[in-house]
Amino acid sequence: MSRVLIVEDEKKLLASLKKGLEQDGYEVITATTGEEGYYAATTEKVDAVLLDLMLPRRDGIQVLRDLRSGGFSQPVLILTARDSVDDRVVGLDSGADDYLVKPFAFAELLARLRALLRRDTGERKLMLLVGDLEMDLVARRVVRDGEEIELSLREFELLAYFVRNADTVVTRDMLARDVWHEPMGVLTNVIDVYVGLLRKKVERPGLQQLIHTVRGVGYVVRDAS
Ligand code: CA
Repeated sequence: MSRVLIVEDEKKLLASLKKGLEQDGYEVITATTGEEGYYAATTEKVDAVLLDLMLPRRDGIQVLRDLRSGGFSQPVLILTARDSVDDRVVGLDSGADDYLVKPFAFAELLARLRALLRRDTGERKLMLLVGDLEMDLVARRVVRDGEEIELSLREFELLAYFVRNADTVVTRDMLARDVWHEPMGVLTNVIDVYVGLLRKKVERPGLQQLIHTVRGVGYVVRDAS
């Protein structure tokens, strides 16, 4: 059974999330301040965290940064207020794996959570290759030029999409539809931030550039060697 930590100071929302997740078979622990959330995440066994951003006693972004800098590697899904695109970008940049904008449908939360928790189920090994980059889709490992690259879940999905479509121009609309499953409008900044994060991890001095920008259109992953 997966154990989920919910950090949320709105008591009604917290209670309904807890009840819904328990009915769906999750074990749930809760916290109502940033301090408490940080403490719970670092002292209890937790498989995933739902993290509100506006929290008393250490805001969500700070909690996230503190957890990531301390080596906490479990998925974190942030819950943000409507229209605070900047919060989302900062959250993703601080190590969140995904976000939901309040108010959200509970079914959407369940779907995102399942995706974050999806584990190796012993399916056939699926490898993707471009140039010196290898992706193991089952083990969720990425190796470039012999060196493993640590990616967040979303970064991994984005890179896998690029690599599956290698040598094809991928537009931001395609990424919004197929990787984020959301309309393009809200995502322009988020997509660019992610591609930037991915580049920092994938492109290294001395190696061929793989992720190319196609001005005004999108991106293409290509092995130029
Ligand atoms: Ca709040």
